[in-house]
Amino acid sequence: MSAHNGFRLASGPRGAEQLGGLLAVALRGMETGVLERGGPLPAGGPAVVSAALAAAGGGTGRLPREGIGEERALEEMSRLLGLGSADPAHPHCAAHLVCSSLAVSVAADVVASALNPSMDVWELAPMASEIERDFTTGIAGLCYPAESSPDAVVTSGGTESNLLALLLARTLIEGDLQVVCGANAHHSVTRAAWILGLPTPVVVACEDDRMVPAALEAALEPLGSSTLVVATAGTTNTGRIDPLPEIAETCRRFGARLHVDAAYGGLALCSEELSRRLKGIELADSVTLDMHKFGWQSIAAGLLATRNARDLGALKISADYINASDDVDAGLPDLLGRSIWTSRRADAFRMAVTMSALGTDGLGRMVEHCCTTAQEVAAEIDRRPGLRLWKRPSLSTVLFRPTVLDDLPSTAGDALVGRIRRELLNRGTAIVGRAALPDTKDGHRKLWLKLTLLHPNASGADYRPLLDQVVAIAAQEQAGLVESR
Ligand SMILES: *Cc1c(COP(=O)(O)O)cnc(C)c1O
Repeated sequence: MSAHNGFRLASGPRGAEQLGGLLAVALRGMETGVLERGGPLPAGGPAVVSAALAAAGGGTGRLPREGIGEERALEEMSRLLGLGSADPAHPHCAAHLVCSSLAVSVAADVVASALNPSMDVWELAPMASEIERDFTTGIAGLCYPAESSPDAVVTSGGTESNLLALLLARTLIEGDLQVVCGANAHHSVTRAAWILGLPTPVVVACEDDRMVPAALEAALEPLGSSTLVVATAGTTNTGRIDPLPEIAETCRRFGARLHVDAAYGGLALCSEELSRRLKGIELADSVTLDMHKFGWQSIAAGLLATRNARDLGALKISADYINASDDVDAGLPDLLGRSIWTSRRADAFRMAVTMSALGTDGLGRMVEHCCTTAQEVAAEIDRRPGLRLWKRPSLSTVLFRPTVLDDLPSTAGDALVGRIRRELLNRGTAIVGRAALPDTKDGHRKLWLKLTLLHPNASGADYRPLLDQVVAIAAQEQAGLVESR
């Protein structure tokens, strides 16, 4: 290849200019698609999405021999993605712990993508690794303000952070590790134990979706000290926070290690008011955080903080072509041991830019806003005779059921909850989640509709039309007017 081939590259002296031109094309395509879609997701279900791709000449499953050119491909496919995406910037995209990304973060990510630092080798990421170091040290200080040497590493999300927490425990604990977690724990905890070849976790009973300390004590009694207890600060189903001080005290008495999965609730530490609910988190040996939930980052933006920087030494590894000992002795930072990955994106850059732009106070106010919105929506549900509220929200998750379900047998009621959810998806008007929780009366699991509110600009009133729709569909479904699918 000669130097005058003319491929447009994203970096170098002409990078900004070349990228800028194409970005304008891509964003124009995206905007056209988003406006065509209108609602929070494309109406009509999977078949309509496949048809849209086919109509644009795609969907053949064959790679093209000849390209259509950069501008055309970018504009057309960005239009398709805009048209066919679920859009968390719409308040009614409220099912899952996925937020809309702050534009400032995405803009920063364009720069990181263009410069493409690889976080495994210092010489490929001199400033990116310095910024990551500074940011992760700050995150560690957020979790462990009173510790002298906490640390944190960047991960691809809560799943990997939990896996790392188990891996560190397996390496640091003497004897064969047994994981103990609440019945409310995220599925990634059990999966991490499976990946690492550990025994299936011992599951501790919950009440109100919170771990029961007495049940934890009973579970730890026969196990000895080779245990890792995983508590949750912000459960995926309900946003409940385990009683962390009691759990930490129990762990201390039994000599067990403690990990807190705060993938959902962790960034509430940015709010002075909300951080009180997380009291005790600083007693954990490690903490999972996720900035693609509260944090308003694009996926993936996970973190794992440890009380003791030394614990992360368990990840140390040397590869002569990356971190040769004479290079390290000569003062080149050793980055390879800060992840289980080798090549790794500079995801910390956009997180650091966001932090620099908003500060912890700014992020804290955003988290507070979502929790206030959840209280408003809960109060609105409580006021409506057609809806039943599960319980007051702890963070920003609101669970409810239409009251017409009360008179149905539980399997029929659950089936109807599923149909209401799918009808909303099919209409393209709302993405509402679901959560199965033990009933307070008989302990059997019952299905609830779930709103997980992460919209920093929406308020309670924005959810009234959504609630109206749920009530109307429930009535129609119950009357058998809408065909079951
Ligand atoms: C979201 C979540 C996870 C998983 O995080 P990912 O970023 O999706 O991998 C783990 N634990 C809890 C409590 C969560 O809410």
